[in-house]
This record gives sequence, structure tokens and C-alpha cells, in this order.
Amino acid sequence: MPAHTAHSLLDLPKHQGLRLRLIEELRAKGIRDQFVLKAIMEVPRHFFLDQALAEMAYQDKAMPIGEGQTISQPYTVAFQSELLALEPHMKVLEIGTGSGYQASILDKMGARVFSVETIKSLHRSSQKLLKHLNCKAKLFVGDGSMGLLSYSPFDRILVTAASPDIPDALKSQLRIGGHLVIPVGKLSEQTMLKLTKISETEWHQEAYPGFRFVPLTGEHGWSF
Ligand code: SAM
Repeated sequence: MPAHTAHSLLDLPKHQGLRLRLIEELRAKGIRDQFVLKAIMEVPRHFFLDQALAEMAYQDKAMPIGEGQTISQPYTVAFQSELLALEPHMKVLEIGTGSGYQASILDKMGARVFSVETIKSLHRSSQKLLKHLNCKAKLFVGDGSMGLLSYSPFDRILVTAASPDIPDALKSQLRIGGHLVIPVGKLSEQTMLKLTKISETEWHQEAYPGFRFVPLTGEHGWSF
């Protein structure tokens, strides 16, 4: 669990400088959405890591957050956020709160965020940190592979863990016209899918290969 000491919650000019450099790196890798880049500039990623890893927070790398889980690589966070094509005040469901970083990015972008995490200790630490950061995202403990029926439908759904296929529960909890962004494939590598719900039966699909996430568990995830 990240050690959120008073020291690690200081956002110093050196951190802001490192974020600026990260933004340039993300731009060079093809991220274009100004709202995504602005949010990454505003959210101190080092707050979401254990203090021992804080120095590496602005490298474009996934990092451990405890419980065998990871905070995604900044490029992946930016790419998924860009694929969502958010408009102000949209209702977004995230599956896999983890550290809470992606939820904070979406909150900064003006979305109404609902995020589900299956591991209680991660839920508790992200809840505490997001409260401290005045982030309005609503966090839940549970099996996100089933969605969050009582708060559906959603304008956007984002899955931040590797799924063996596309859970029907998520498809049905998406509003018509909405996008579902989800990494699907083998445990070793996934393709990022952006599905657009045209009607209850018609979907448009875009696919971007070459991602690697920790597994989605639960009813519609991987069973070990
Ligand atoms: N979005 C996170 C962040 O910003 O730090 C990173 C997510 S991490 C790559 C994937 C997370 O999905 C892990 O914290 C894992 O416990 C969670 N997870 C896996 N299966 C889940 C499920 N069925 N429901 C909810 N969360 C799940």
C-alpha cells in the first residue's frame, strides 16, 4: 500500500518539471488530446506510488502498487483516456480502480466517475488519497466484471485489467452512442478494443494491439 506520508504528498516544482517532460514524451508517442495532456499535467502521479518509487513516477512505466497489482504506464492511461472521447459531465464507469490515478485523470477531465475495485486494501487506500485530493470520483468495492448495474447506464466504460472477452454485463450497461474501451486477449498480450454501441444489437469496433495488463478477475474475468 502506498506510504502517503506528508513528505510524499508535496508537489514540488521538480515534480511539475518532470510532468512537463512526460507530457512531451506522450505527445511524441502520438497523444493529441489536449484535455488528456492537461489532466496528466495536473495530477501528481507520485502521490499514487509508494514513497520508495516516487522518484520514478514520471517515467513512462507501469509500477507496482501492492497486492500484485500495478498503476498503468502513463502512455496507456493517456491512450485509453483519449479513446474514450469524453465530453463534459459524462458518466464514466472504470473497472479496476487500483491506485486511483486513472479515476483522478478522468475526474480532472470533468467526467462523473464511478470506479470499481475488487481488492479491499487498494479500494481503501485510493479512497483515502482521492478524498485528500478533493477528487469527486465515487469508488466501490466489488466485481467490476459485472459492471455497476444500479448506477447504469454509462456514457463511457473503461476497463483497466486484461479481459478474456467482452463481458455482456458491460455491453448492456452502456448507453446507445457510448464507447466501451477494454483490453481483450491472452494473459500475455491484449488488443485494446474501442466498441461503440450503435444500437442494442449493432456495434462498431476499433482495435489497437500490443498492450499488457494484469488480469481481470471475477465472474466474467479469468479464473485461476
Ligand atoms: N486504473 C488503475 C490505476 O489507475 O492505478 C490501474 C489498474 S490495475 C492495471 C488493474 C486493477 O484491476 C487491479 O487493481 C485489480 O485488482 C483490478 N481488478 C481486477 N479484476 C477486477 C474486477 N473483476 N473488478 C474490479 N477490479 C478488478
